[in-house]
Amino acid sequence: MTSIETGLIPVLPEVTAFLQRQHALWINGQWVASSSGKSLAVFDPATGQEISHIPDASDLDVDHAIKAARAAFKVWSHMRPADRERLLLKFADVIEAHGEELAQLETLNQGKSIHLSRMIEVGASVEYVRYMAGWATKIEGTTSDLSIAIPPGARNLGLTLRQPVGVVGAIVPWNFPMGMAIWKIASALTCGCTMVLKPSEDTPLTALRLAELAKEAGIPDGVLNVVTGLGAGAGAALARHPGIDKVSFTGSTVTGKEIGRMALANMTRFTLELGGKNPMIIMDDMDAAAIAPGLMAGCFFNQGQVCAAASRLYIHRSIFDHTVGTLESAMKGMTLGSGLNPTAQVQPLVSARHQARVSEAVDAIRKEGVEIVTGGKTPDRTGYFFEPTLLINAPENSLAQKQEIFGPVISAVPVESLDQAIALANNTAYGLAASIWTRDFNSAMKAARQLEAGTIWINSHIPLDPNLPFGGFKQSGYGREHGRGAIEQYTETKSVIIPVFE
Ligand code: NAD
Repeated sequence: MTSIETGLIPVLPEVTAFLQRQHALWINGQWVASSSGKSLAVFDPATGQEISHIPDASDLDVDHAIKAARAAFKVWSHMRPADRERLLLKFADVIEAHGEELAQLETLNQGKSIHLSRMIEVGASVEYVRYMAGWATKIEGTTSDLSIAIPPGARNLGLTLRQPVGVVGAIVPWNFPMGMAIWKIASALTCGCTMVLKPSEDTPLTALRLAELAKEAGIPDGVLNVVTGLGAGAGAALARHPGIDKVSFTGSTVTGKEIGRMALANMTRFTLELGGKNPMIIMDDMDAAAIAPGLMAGCFFNQGQVCAAASRLYIHRSIFDHTVGTLESAMKGMTLGSGLNPTAQVQPLVSARHQARVSEAVDAIRKEGVEIVTGGKTPDRTGYFFEPTLLINAPENSLAQKQEIFGPVISAVPVESLDQAIALANNTAYGLAASIWTRDFNSAMKAARQLEAGTIWINSHIPLDPNLPFGGFKQSGYGREHGRGAIEQYTETKSVIIPVFE
């Protein structure tokens, strides 16, 4: 086992001070101790050390937070759209001003590279808030000329009004803790909704800091509340509470189904962003060496802990050996290290539990007899690392092709044609994302039409933009986030009928 890793960036004093705080729940613009008196430990995935503690919220705490959000809804939903926009833009500025602090906090808690924390968790989040803030003043309805024949002599005019759905219960996972929270906060608040946010118990720290920063930006008390705790406890208390109007969930398909059932019991609106087992098709006109950086990013971004990451590679047989060889040498050359080590290329997984889950999945695949070209093991070092792993020639019924492993594990299979690749790519319960790599325009567009997934990349895999809807087909989800799609998810449409006598 290695002991202390060197070459790490220095941790800011405000980050150390935040970790040492006695954390509480954020309800109605203040820190409130949990009525349960229970707490949960928070770990640094690079060292396995406890770095902080958070409250494990009770049902009563969740109820308290929902009541605060309900009271704030009266204020926030009646505010002029331009005022909501201004406050959200200020929120983006405050996040940006605290960017390095938030990035370090995320890396220490989630394990990811400091580059990713700066670029995605902070940088993309700031852009996301600014993008969504602009929608506040652009939410609109329709007018229509109606054919209703009563009252006699009247010409009926129809209008649609879009109104905020109400109090949102947002439940987010651990892979992009800040980014996923911001997708929901920015969209819901833009529409005039208020929120109770439940971050993952593994990665709760940036959500707590964001809540304080929202207050600093001038967002009124009670508009954003944060309750920390276990999924089956605080998470379920939120999802099944009759006092919320919408659940917005991002996480695994198994939990998503449970959340959907809980929400439906109260007819609470819900959107679900769930798992994926995303295919990447590589055609015979591609040069593996030239596209290797794009393929590696599509598979190993955030150690493969990305809902949209590629994990099934369908490679044309004529370039299969060369492409697999190129990937193998790129993977073998990757250096492992803490997220605070700017030169490391592979960081730890989020938790000891997840490390064990990935390791067990690979062991089960090994027992099936699938060939492991490289990786496949937990390295002998401190922290929750797992080696980048390349499997080949797995049969379609193998776990390698079926199970979302959500780690640095990819499975490459040769195909004879585009038609075969598309058929195999669609042979899954999931449908979140997919990519095709080819120079042939017709093949690219045929795949874009025929692949059953919510997002398709052509000669790319992984980047997202707030101006393009994101969500899943099949068991990868229900509803869409981002842009106009998000506005539709956080508003209700009301029809207004007006008889006009001309
Ligand atoms: P998870 O489903 O275990 O947990 C997600 C959140 O739900 C956490 O906050 C957790 O505490 C909470 N939760 C767990 N059980 C609950 C319950 N019974 N009731 C209410 N809340 C509960 O998922 P995870 O392991 O944190 O995240 C990984 C999963 O998230 C992967 O499947 C990944 O594909 C998915 N994901 C999807 C997207 C997307 O946009 N489609 C994005 C990121 C992650």
